[in-house]
Amino acid sequence: MEKFEYMEKYGHEQLVYFFDKITGLRGVTCIHDTSLGPALGGTRIWNYENEEEAILDAFRLSRGMTYKAACAGLNLGGGKTVLYGDPKVVKSEAYFRSLGRFVQSLNGRYITAEDVNTNTKDMSYVAMETDYVVGLPGKSGNPSPVTAWGIFMGIKATLKEVFGDDSIKDRSFAVQGAGQTGYYLIKYLLGEDYPDKNYKTEKASKIYFTEINDDHIRRMKNEHPQVEFVKPDDIYSLEVDIFSPCALGAVINDVTVPQFKCKAIAGSANNVLKDAVHGRQLKERGILYAPDYVINAGGLINVYHELQGYNRDMAVKDVELIYDRLMEIYKISKNKNIATSDAADRFAENRIKIIKEIESNYIRR
Ligand code: NAD
Repeated sequence: MEKFEYMEKYGHEQLVYFFDKITGLRGVTCIHDTSLGPALGGTRIWNYENEEEAILDAFRLSRGMTYKAACAGLNLGGGKTVLYGDPKVVKSEAYFRSLGRFVQSLNGRYITAEDVNTNTKDMSYVAMETDYVVGLPGKSGNPSPVTAWGIFMGIKATLKEVFGDDSIKDRSFAVQGAGQTGYYLIKYLLGEDYPDKNYKTEKASKIYFTEINDDHIRRMKNEHPQVEFVKPDDIYSLEVDIFSPCALGAVINDVTVPQFKCKAIAGSANNVLKDAVHGRQLKERGILYAPDYVINAGGLINVYHELQGYNRDMAVKDVELIYDRLMEIYKISKNKNIATSDAADRFAENRIKIIKEIESNYIRR
């Protein structure tokens, strides 16, 4: 991979390598675009096959964060840190404090958070060395219930678009994965534990779920026996209103697209389209797709509020705006006759462009 060519093609601003010989910390921070504000994105630890793979991941993930933040209406850019190593071996207080020092050296151009194989405790070590970290213990907390609330809102917007009525009542759902986000989503679909207590409760008529983790299957069966378990391969072809992928990426692919009998797809899973073409195939099949990075932005919106002094109610209200944002994206998709996944990209690119333009005149502040 020619890195400068890649950066030019996809608009990346900065790629920073760092290494600490005391702790063995080695990784990169990639800043994609800071037109809207500081780049925010979590720190991921992974035992990559090689350096090339780690950097490609940082390039892709940081760009994804730019689009997610732009669509979520946040004044943030996109960034990501990937650490190269075995998470079972490398982690220590010194390792994360060393990371914090590198984050601080970027002087606020990049803000980190937890991600795959890092947690709030690790971030508390990072915070000993830098001001530019969110997702700390005692602040915004576990993002999953809030992310799931955003999915619930996105499902309502999607129902509105498909049926002209956003009510959950009388609708049927197939949820793939009942880990964190899927578990909370099912609660909300059953009218339980809404994070916004002023919201009128509604109950779905039928919910199916699938899982591969026995503990999660048992938990669902114990807590909500009315939610029907189906085998993992059977989830795609159920005749339901909404299929909600809340487990893995790339589950919308050549094999599954022909199987779907749902009216729409709306769930938490990241990178759920195997390829951009699958978003277009869903459109051809008349299945409405809620773009992943728009509907699952609740976690990002939640940690963003830490930068402004965290207030749970305000964060939850902000997450509810995912409804309006999806409606705007559905409108673009209809007006331009393009897939909703392409419409989301246009929405993000347009917001970045317009905000850059309004900042072109000098104002003394
Ligand atoms: P999780 O690991 O808590 O839950 C995923 C569940 O899916 C697990 O219980 C797992 O056993 C199950 N699963 C895995 N493969 C499966 C299969 N083939 N069939 C059925 N079930 C399967 O993860 P999560 O935090 O709920 O995240 C789910 C997705 O949402 C991920 O793609 C994640 O990146 C994305 N996401 C999560 C958040 C968040 O706040 N947690 C925010 C944005 C996006």
